[in-house]
Amino acid sequence: MKNVETRGLVLFSRHYREQDKLVKIFTERFGKRMFFVKNAGNSRFASSLQNFTQLELLGTINDDGLSFISDISEARPYQLINADIFAQAYASYLVGLADVALPDNHYDAPLYGFLMKSLDLIEEQIDMVVVTFIFELQIMSRFGAQLDFGQCVFCHRQDLPMDFSYQFNGCLCRHHFDADMKRSHLDPNVIFLCHSFMAMDLEKLPSINLSDDMKKKIRVFIDALYDHYIGIQIKAKKFIDGLDGWADIMKG
Ligand SMILES: [Zn+2]
Repeated sequence: MKNVETRGLVLFSRHYREQDKLVKIFTERFGKRMFFVKNAGNSRFASSLQNFTQLELLGTINDDGLSFISDISEARPYQLINADIFAQAYASYLVGLADVALPDNHYDAPLYGFLMKSLDLIEEQIDMVVVTFIFELQIMSRFGAQLDFGQCVFCHRQDLPMDFSYQFNGCLCRHHFDADMKRSHLDPNVIFLCHSFMAMDLEKLPSINLSDDMKKKIRVFIDALYDHYIGIQIKAKKFIDGLDGWADIMKG
């Protein structure tokens, strides 16, 4: 049992018994922890414990069992993410991925920072589709998929248009397209952009303007990578896939 101070993001909460709540918080210093909040409805913390709220908390962290909050000094809800159905769907998906990528009670401040920065960008209305591509590509290595979109797996050339090969778990330049009869036949710009996204620092994100057509192509490719290498289902992702149709209708 330790008395500690840490920043954190409320991932979700659920009722426990009549009056109490269990609140899962991704803390910066101690990873994801389940906190027990007694009499949650009457608690002075009640309003700070909504989903998508960043907070600064004082509490007791227990490595076995539940943790406890003794004080919350600052709480900042993500306003847009809480209010906008599209922003909320994308943010839920990123939170879901981070949740699956990291076992409970494991320290991972870099992942915490990466998730917060991604949510900040969605909140600032930076293109959430692009933020999501960057997040999905960069978090893949935490699931054990280390892919390099920067060079041909055979000759290591970096200057030619590339295609992706699942057989060789990497890219092929046009001199080596023949090595895999089932290569992906991608638009080379898809690989080029995925390579850029993989290396991109969210702190210095340049403004990126992608056509809807290019976004669709990248979406299809990343979905295929996730199916092949990762194989997890995040509920919010299905919802996003369904939203695409609605977005088109609303634009039209
Ligand atoms: Zn090659």
